[in-house]
Amino acid sequence: MRDLNSDCAAMIRDLLAWYDVHAREMPWRVGPAKRAAGERPDPYKVWLSEVMLQQTTVAAVREYFLRFTKRWPAVPDLAAAEDADVMSEWAGLGYYARARNLLKCARAVASDFGGTFPDSYEGLLKLPGIGPYTAAAISSIAFDRPETVLDGNVERVMARLHNIHEPLPGVKPVLTDRAAELTPAQRPGDYAQAVMDLGATICTPRNPACGICPWRDPCAARAAGTAAELPRKTPKKPKPTRNGIVYLAKSADGTWLLERRPDKGLLGGMLGWPGSEWNETPAANPPFAADWQGIGSEVRHTFTHFHLILQVMTAELPAGFNPNPAQELIPRHDFRPSSLPTVMRKAFDLYQGR
Ligand code: SF4
Repeated sequence: MRDLNSDCAAMIRDLLAWYDVHAREMPWRVGPAKRAAGERPDPYKVWLSEVMLQQTTVAAVREYFLRFTKRWPAVPDLAAAEDADVMSEWAGLGYYARARNLLKCARAVASDFGGTFPDSYEGLLKLPGIGPYTAAAISSIAFDRPETVLDGNVERVMARLHNIHEPLPGVKPVLTDRAAELTPAQRPGDYAQAVMDLGATICTPRNPACGICPWRDPCAARAAGTAAELPRKTPKKPKPTRNGIVYLAKSADGTWLLERRPDKGLLGGMLGWPGSEWNETPAANPPFAADWQGIGSEVRHTFTHFHLILQVMTAELPAGFNPNPAQELIPRHDFRPSSLPTVMRKAFDLYQGR
């Protein structure tokens, strides 16, 4: 069998040559040609994109990224933003703890670092919401430090390159070691993005395009014919299903009743419909006494750890309704369904289409 370690330099060279031609264009990225000409990525944009891309696809992130950077072009702008405005712009991206940490991090960079991100892995790791993966990605992409960046794409590429059949997540340290062996001292930022691009466009989960892969010669899974089986994953436990009720109330003049969720917990800090707890048998708890009517269909939504089925109830909001501190009355012209988290927007869409 071929000794992969001795081939590292050639593999890095082949991958970077492929990247020089095939790099994906992304609004936060400085491509290889511009980088070679001396342009450097904006650490703010690299950080923002990396936080948005956690658990989310490039296609879904693109519009959010453009909106955020138009509204808050630099970290001090974001640090000075109102929490509610940031949560509202984040609506639909999911995993809302990321948005809360985004603000905390922007404020820490603005107040503790003079508006400039620390340029080392260790420094970045101290910031709110930045874990080992994100610290490695920013430090490598924004500051050209030779850190090993291991996302799902890179895990797949490494498992195949070395024909590793032990399942994820247990095998992750092994894949990290294999990825570290290849991380170069020269052009580490381009390399990190190149290997991610390879996983996203060539070494795809299904039908990897081995015939046009720059690593087709050294790839052990290609030689063994096992690429499509890798990486293996330990089967996940089935997700439980929880139930809940949401209450959509609008007044005769089109004012909606919304409620801000507690900062901690799922959809923390987001505006949504008043509703019940989410559990096996939620108790009804309408925000006011009325003849609440079901709309005849239910919302189905899946979170990381459970499926949710929401009953949607509706009633007219009485004139003069006095909201509690968590509730907000949103006039018709200020109501933007797009500022609701996806599960709450699904309830609104059902209501509209009932
Ligand atoms: S040769 Fe195929 S399996 Fe191996 S790294 Fe390239 S695309 Fe992936």
